[in-house]
Amino acid sequence: MHRKLLVASILLMLLGGYLIFFRSDSKVAAPPPNAASGKTGSIKLGGDETGKYTIDNQNSVYFIVNKQRGLDSSFIPKNLAAIGGNQLRSDAANAMSQLITAANVDNINFKIISGYRSYNDQAGVYGAYVKKDGVAKADTYSARPGHSEHQLGLATDLGTGTCDLQTCFGDTAGGKWLLKNSAKYGFIVRYQKGKENLTGYQYEPWHIRYLGIGLATKVHKSGLTLEQFFGLSPAISY
Ligand SMILES: [Zn+2]
Repeated sequence: MHRKLLVASILLMLLGGYLIFFRSDSKVAAPPPNAASGKTGSIKLGGDETGKYTIDNQNSVYFIVNKQRGLDSSFIPKNLAAIGGNQLRSDAANAMSQLITAANVDNINFKIISGYRSYNDQAGVYGAYVKKDGVAKADTYSARPGHSEHQLGLATDLGTGTCDLQTCFGDTAGGKWLLKNSAKYGFIVRYQKGKENLTGYQYEPWHIRYLGIGLATKVHKSGLTLEQFFGLSPAISY
């Protein structure tokens, strides 16, 4: 009888202790209100968007490639279309054609300097830069093969003949137009000024990345890098 009481008491104490621990633990674990909103308004960060957008599939228009996330050397986009002497994935090519037409109305004449580049093309481009400037410098402005958005067929370098492929392009009418209007056509300026320590690349006001109008608009309005938007770590090194 005493032993049964003792066992029952011990069980009750254990249960009580568990409840106290569990309750205090859940209090500690409760997130502060509006933790996810911060300065970004209604956009939820930290992976909530990942479920909506397929960022891990190379064939997805949302795939994120950076110094930490590579592409297969054999990856070639399935639906490349010709545009301006280059190639882009067909949905990006259609959007690019609309962007160029709209800019023309504003008296800005963009030409496509670079679109899709194969893995081998990128190896050639990167290798030449390494020869010229060394690895450390080249890595600030050129992707290693397998890490370029150009291999995705979703990135375009645009120029107007003024400050082409130079940071001063950002101060030209063309550069300003791209920053302001790209998202309306589904593109974002991917490597922005002041974000070098987040993107791992120098400021490239001429390099725009296709994401579709919906996601491009959200990312543009958030003011975040693509990595930040999806709660990924900054990709500053390989
Ligand atoms: Zn580029």
